[in-house]
Formats: sequence, structure tokens, C-alpha cells
Amino acid sequence: MAKGDAARWRVAPGSTVHLGKIDPRSTDGAPGDKAGTEPVLENLHGQLAGLQERLYAEGERSLLVVLQAIDAGGKDGTVKHLFRGLNPAGCRVVSFKVPSEEERSHDFLWRVHAKTPARGEVALFNRSHYEDVLVVRVHDLVPEAVWRPRYDLINDFEANLVASGTRIVKLYLHISREEQAERLQARIDDPTKRWKFRKADLVERAFWDDYMAAFEEAIGATSTASAPWYVVPADRKWYRNWAVSRILVETLDDMSPQYPPAEDLTGVVVA
Ligand code: AMP
Ligand code: MG
Repeated sequence: MAKGDAARWRVAPGSTVHLGKIDPRSTDGAPGDKAGTEPVLENLHGQLAGLQERLYAEGERSLLVVLQAIDAGGKDGTVKHLFRGLNPAGCRVVSFKVPSEEERSHDFLWRVHAKTPARGEVALFNRSHYEDVLVVRVHDLVPEAVWRPRYDLINDFEANLVASGTRIVKLYLHISREEQAERLQARIDDPTKRWKFRKADLVERAFWDDYMAAFEEAIGATSTASAPWYVVPADRKWYRNWAVSRILVETLDDMSPQYPPAEDLTGVVVA
């Protein structure tokens, strides 16, 4: 496997993120066009499956994948894609919605901490604690004096998870405003996609620039060496799928999970 593709999308700690300078339609580094990339993807799924099985068997460490994007950015599609290479035993998807009354009566990390992966597990977060510095900021749900300190609180929280054996990968799916328009329109036009559409999505779309500013600042403030952000160009779904598979395979490969040592089975025969 060619090493280091994932570095292409990784956000260096302390850097300033300019999403406007990253082309959402990029296909940089792809092994081919859409059709040419398909067999590579198949191979990556196989690798992912093998690595996940070892992580599960090892039972010592875990992987947390955070997925964030604007509405229609491809979070659901990415989850579906990744599951082609993941065994549901040992893997969980957690979707974070508007906090319930009970969730709101605790600190913002309470509901998130409860869903972090146990040893051996992979957890895919579809939205996450980052909503508390994104939608919350864009809509002034709490004052800046409350959300701004959350960057540090998030970094501390993630450092605590890392110290306890969780590897963290954070993926920002980067789509263009035009692509979002197409996807939202498709949700209106296609009866099988209409369930995903809410009129409120159009209200949210009007806050595009505010969301981009919030994403840029959040990603810049929380991309750390041990819990990096990756900005994945995501207008082309096949490229996005290849990129996220690469990132996960490289991450798990680097973790190098091992089957636990077997008990001494000398002379043991099944009767
Ligand atoms: P969806 O992902 O389309 O099912 O929508 C989930 C909704 O929940 C989105 O509009 C999010 O912005 C919203 N949401 C998720 N987390 C939070 C949060 N911590 N505070 C406010 N809204 C949130
Ligand atoms: Mg939605």
C-alpha cells in the first residue's frame, strides 16, 4: 500500500484553515477516474475489514471517527460506504440530533462521552460535539463566552480519550455551495429522497458563509497531532469514498492491532 496519501488531507496543528482555497471537486491523488478507482476501493474495503477484525480481537484500543459536514454534505452516504468494509459487530454509528431536554441539562460533552467506543470498537459519529461550536455558534444558541472556550474543552476531552486508548480521526466533508444546491434539489424532486429534506434546510443554506467561518475556526483550533482533522473534497462521491477509506486504512494500519496471544493449546483436541 502506498503510504501517506492521508497526509494530503490532514490539517496540521495550529494552521489556519481556508476552505475557500480547497477545491471541493478535487480528484488529486486518485488512482484513476471513477471506474478506475472502483477496484482500488474494493481492495481498501478488504483491508479495512481485516484491520477492524484485528482491532476487535485485540480488544485493547478503539477508533473514533467523527463526521462533520454542511447539510447534504454526504455524511449518511459516507457511513453507508464505510460499512461495506466494516463488520457491524464491533462497529457503531451514532447520530447526534438536536439535544433532548435531558441532554441539555448536562454539559455539552455528557451525551458524547456516553457514546465513545469501548475497547475493540469502532464508532462512527454522524455529527458530534462539534455541533456545539458550529450550529450553536451560527444561531447564537449560547453566547460566545460559552462556545469559544469549548475548543479547549474539546481538545482536553479528546486528549483524555486518546490517553485511554482511543484513536481519533475527524473528517470534514467539503462540498461546494453549488453541489449542496443540487443535492437539496434532488431531495425535493426524488420521492425516495424527500424524507431527508426539511424546509429548514433552506434556511440553513442561507447561513452558508457563517457555517464556513465556523468550520474553518473549529477545524483550525482542534486539529491536534493526536486527534487530527482531515478536509476531504467531497463533491465527487467516488473520490470522497476513496479518500475516507484511505484515511481509515492508514490510521488502522498505523495502529497495527494484533490478535491476542492464544492460550497454551498444546494437546488440546475437540472431543
Ligand atoms: P440531521 O443530521 O439531518 O438528522 O439533523 C440533525 C440536526 O440536529 C441538525 O440540524 C443539527 O444541526 C442539529 N444538532 C445536532 N447537534 C446539535 C446541538 N448540539 N445543538 C443544536 N443542534 C444540534
Ligand atoms: Mg438533515
